[in-house]
Amino acid sequence: MMQIVRTVAELRCWSRALHAAGGNTLGLVPTMGALHAGHASLIRAARASCTHVAVSLFVNPTQFGPHEDYARYPRAFDADCALAESEGADVLFAPAVEELYPNGPGSTFVEVPALSDRLDGQSRPGHFRGVATVVAKLLIAAEPDRAHFGQKDAAQVAVLRRMAADLLLATEIVVCPIIRDADGLALSSRNAYLTAAQRGQALALSRAIRDVESLVAQGERRAPMLIASAQIVFAAEPDVRIDFIALVDAATLEPVSTAVPGTLFAVAAWVGATRLIDNTILR
Ligand code: AMP
Repeated sequence: MMQIVRTVAELRCWSRALHAAGGNTLGLVPTMGALHAGHASLIRAARASCTHVAVSLFVNPTQFGPHEDYARYPRAFDADCALAESEGADVLFAPAVEELYPNGPGSTFVEVPALSDRLDGQSRPGHFRGVATVVAKLLIAAEPDRAHFGQKDAAQVAVLRRMAADLLLATEIVVCPIIRDADGLALSSRNAYLTAAQRGQALALSRAIRDVESLVAQGERRAPMLIASAQIVFAAEPDVRIDFIALVDAATLEPVSTAVPGTLFAVAAWVGATRLIDNTILR
């Protein structure tokens, strides 16, 4: 039976008890809910490498800009409980905003200034400050041995890895591959916003990623050529508005002029009012 936990005190107590029992490890999977197969893959990865798994479900207000979709972000508590339980989570941590922000959102922040203005951070000021803050809180509350994140949010991965290193956190950051629909679209809770027509247009993102991967497989390494190939894909979808197309170092998020194995190619684009992202780590 999966346990639903609402307070930090209960979560910490549970984590400390399982560690005190000896031989146990805890994997944490932080999410904002509206769980899909991408989240399920993280829970399964945690299950495979840890004896116990906690899934957190928290739509974090501090990572949304004032004109973003915090109020209308999809919320599906009962379905999320069912999915988390069926994937083998032991605990679902679903705190109220006041529980994670006892003195109100904005009282204390964790900042990673070296990275937080790059990629998504450029078009979403304050976003990565909110992400770093809430993930730091979750790691402090749960004291997990490992925390699992999706490669889908590549810049977030870079920010959290840097934060974990700089704050000397004991938790290992584990990154899991992007889960896609059969047609290539990267799964996202925000895909629920798309109309049928927009769902088709949204395929420009994964198509751009695939084209760049095949160009690299053919030997192309030059940033302008790789970026241009993605621009051509987007040009065929005039209703999709590019936010960024970037070839960057996966750890520093700094632009590079030549792709090497491990370089991150990332795109973000608006499909109507919905901002979608996709990326690949080049071989
Ligand atoms: P979210 O609920 O959107 O904040 O995502 C929670 C976690 O799931 C993050 O670490 C995401 O990177 C990860 N995630 C979201 N979509 C996918 C996907 N399609 N494949 C793999 N991981 C994902």
